[in-house]
Amino acid sequence: MKHITKEQLSILSDLSPLSPFLFNRDEIVYFDKELPDIIERLIELNLWSQYYEEFLKKNNSDIEINISKNQNEQRWVVLKGQVVIFEGRELILGYCREVSKRKRKEFELDREKKLRSLMLELTQSIFIANSISEIFDLSLVNAIKALEKSSYGSIMLKQGNMFQTVSYYGFSADILNLKLPCENTFLARNTDNKMDRFVRINLENLGNQTNFNLKDENRILIGSTLSGPIIVEGQLYAIINIDSLENNAFDDNDVQMMEFIRNTVEVAITNHKLYQQKLFLSRYDNLTQLYNRHYFEDQFEQNRKRAVRYEEKFAIVLFDIDYFKSINDRYGHFIGDQVLKHVSDLLKSNQRDSDVLARFGGDEFIGILFNSNVEELNRKYFELNEMLTEKDLKVDDLNIACSFSFGIAQYPNDGETLDDLVKVADFEMYRNKRTRREKLL
Ligand code: GH3
Ligand code: MG
Repeated sequence: MKHITKEQLSILSDLSPLSPFLFNRDEIVYFDKELPDIIERLIELNLWSQYYEEFLKKNNSDIEINISKNQNEQRWVVLKGQVVIFEGRELILGYCREVSKRKRKEFELDREKKLRSLMLELTQSIFIANSISEIFDLSLVNAIKALEKSSYGSIMLKQGNMFQTVSYYGFSADILNLKLPCENTFLARNTDNKMDRFVRINLENLGNQTNFNLKDENRILIGSTLSGPIIVEGQLYAIINIDSLENNAFDDNDVQMMEFIRNTVEVAITNHKLYQQKLFLSRYDNLTQLYNRHYFEDQFEQNRKRAVRYEEKFAIVLFDIDYFKSINDRYGHFIGDQVLKHVSDLLKSNQRDSDVLARFGGDEFIGILFNSNVEELNRKYFELNEMLTEKDLKVDDLNIACSFSFGIAQYPNDGETLDDLVKVADFEMYRNKRTRREKLL
């Protein structure tokens, strides 16, 4: 054990800028020079017995102490201590040094590291999301992870002039009933209706806006909110709100983080929409919104395999519009297109959920139909055709008579491949066309 005298302590005090002092379990018992303010803080904290025990256990070690008075001030010191004998008493010789700068840097680096991994996690997951609601959920979860003081969040989707909550975190599910006119949203109120940037809204500006129309037991008193727009294809698409129970919870870093999340969400939604559009275009015929031939061929294969597995039967029906060339020639292609739409709409509105209907090409449509026999189908499409012929299609001042002919083939009786089945259906269709024309003559 080291012995130390007053004289030695005085010399040490002169040599060291760190103002050494001696303390026991209760208080500082001796110092030579005036003590700096950081030690005043330690006196206020009054944790001497704790430091004393630590240095007894681990002589000559360092203790890091948070001396911040409030959350806005981050101050730290390192206390170094050595057990000594002074005037016959066992005391700790302590030196204290402020390390706030280093600590703040460390915190910043830590925060940055955490944010970077969160960003990575968000971008990795959001671009493989299967739906826009999954994109929304992921953005909320990650925003709340990234913003330390946040614990609630919601996304409101723009629907006309209203905003409807579609995704939430922390709240109870009845927040989904929350629907606000644009001008009543936090974002509109706090951006002079511009809704063009993230805003921090604190208690004084929230007023009773937090009382939503939630059930009493589900009401949460929000202290502050970060609210911002999600803009897709140049249009306001949704609003994201991140909430904290604390007042003044968010700082510039949080706004920056939300800007990053918002950008990621905007890109992910744009990508998702493009993908959906491509998927639609690759499956659907643009004019009639029925499946196109390519997708129909896929569907035929899937249905054929299923039919083989379950020993099911199905029918293929081929439709062809009558005198379509003449309609085109007489009224022009635009009217021709209206006729195609008119006939396809009629077929669509009379299909069953299990039916697959497609535009097969030009003025031909094709269907796969389960659980029907030929007589039933004959009757159904005969009646539909009657309905079609009885009521002319009206476009502007024109009255256009439309009808179709159809033919049915059965799987597997008439063939097992699409080609073979279409050949039979086509043959039947022409026979049907001929018979009806002969009747008219
Ligand atoms: P039929 O009564 O024997 O069926 O004779 P039709 O005049 O209907 O003759 P066909 O079925 O061969 O005519 C198909 C016509 O459809 C030929 C083509 O110019 C026209 N056509 C193909 N695709 C389109 C389209 O997308 N829009 C329009 N307006 N016409 C199309
Ligand atoms: Mg035709």
